[in-house]
Amino acid sequence: MASGERYECIIIGGGPAGSTAGTLLAQYGHRVLLLEKERFPRHHIGESLMPQTYFTFQRLGFLEKLKASDFTPKESVQFISASGKESQPFYFTDRDPNEWSVTWQVERDRFDRMMLEHARESGVEVVEGALVKRVLFDGSKADGVEFLQNGELRQVAADVVIDASGQSALLSRQLGLRYGDDRLKNAAIYAYYRGVERGLGRNAGATLVVHTPDKSGWFWLIPLPNDVTSVGLVSPPHLIITGRGSDPLATLEAEIARCTSLTARFQRATRITGSYVTRDFSYRSRRLAGDGWVLIGDAFGFLDPIYSSGVLLALKSGEWAADAVHEALHSRNVSGELLGRFGPRFVSGMQRIRQLVYAFYDPNFSFAAFIRRYPQYHDDVVRVLIGDVFGQGLSEMFEVMSEIVKLPEPLALDGGACVV
Ligand code: FAD
Repeated sequence: MASGERYECIIIGGGPAGSTAGTLLAQYGHRVLLLEKERFPRHHIGESLMPQTYFTFQRLGFLEKLKASDFTPKESVQFISASGKESQPFYFTDRDPNEWSVTWQVERDRFDRMMLEHARESGVEVVEGALVKRVLFDGSKADGVEFLQNGELRQVAADVVIDASGQSALLSRQLGLRYGDDRLKNAAIYAYYRGVERGLGRNAGATLVVHTPDKSGWFWLIPLPNDVTSVGLVSPPHLIITGRGSDPLATLEAEIARCTSLTARFQRATRITGSYVTRDFSYRSRRLAGDGWVLIGDAFGFLDPIYSSGVLLALKSGEWAADAVHEALHSRNVSGELLGRFGPRFVSGMQRIRQLVYAFYDPNFSFAAFIRRYPQYHDDVVRVLIGDVFGQGLSEMFEVMSEIVKLPEPLALDGGACVV
């Protein structure tokens, strides 16, 4: 059982998921403590947003801050095949010509700080430089956390603990619930460049997804403010980390040089940072909630970088967890059943993105060929690319797609709160 001061809710981690849940709970009038191990701004990968983030930003009262920012407007995604064939850009506004169809490419250090400040302004007590070591339990109910601050180990108590600790997945690991996705075992190397050539007009802010010539991996090119482009290579870990020499940066630059679809775009480019490497990022937790606890964002699971869905899923789970925690606190019933009630809807949206992720990595699948053969599903593909995955529909497209590629089994749900 936790000693120390008691809050209604403690949130572990101040990324987009934690800031979203905190802001909404504070707006509901709850007493919330958010513990973040870093001091912001801090570097983070994940710069490209999906348009459906709009509605959570709107609810948070954060939209005006984004509109006033200099983040790059993003209107489309374009795919370039291993042979250099360019798909038509998937323009989000063609499907739905409204302001919510244009989103942003953000620098995550600035964006995350803005979101955390917004949580603070909304009434969340935010403590930076506070590393949570473990979640404390009273029997089977989460009751608080133990954290390290300025070299001192302290405890605080709470009616509900929300884990938003990102890839650290603190509680999921503590409870032995975390498991990897065997078919999505990739690694990424990335760096930042200035002067990479961009498209013109509505293509200037597009995310480019470019296959490597040998089809072993793919690049992302994400245009950020001040002529900076985030450039990453995703590939099986043995190719990135060990297979082509021990220097990941040399691997990234060699792969860029080998890719003729990138040569013209990189003619004037200079690298302005060292490289970053990350791996083992595709995993989930077997459960999403339990008595007194909920997992949100990457602390619950992360699919894959390909469609830039991470921040959307962090915002959505943060939003729905805040509603569930509010209801639970209000009814004095913080059972896992109530806290995890949003699980089935959330996980089925995640599953739809996961199906398109599996299709992308299948050597038999090409977006261009699929759309040529089934133009009637163009709209459904764009729906997934904008993150409109939590409503009805899309099953017919996936049924047809499953005749071409092997799609993953649905994520099974147990009692709404558990994923097995
Ligand atoms: P995070 O943003 O990781 O925040 C978690 C916070 O918790 C961090 O600030 C961390 O310091 C803190 N923390 C961790 N442990 C503790 C602890 N013990 N105590 C206190 N604080 C703690 N997503 C997109 O939407 N678009 C993209 O283009 C994109 N590209 C990606 C590329 C790659 C290679 C990868 C791996 C991911 C990418 N993502 C992308 C995913 C995106 O980065 C995440 O999904 C998103 O940041 C999740 O937000 P979060 O709030 O759950 O976690």
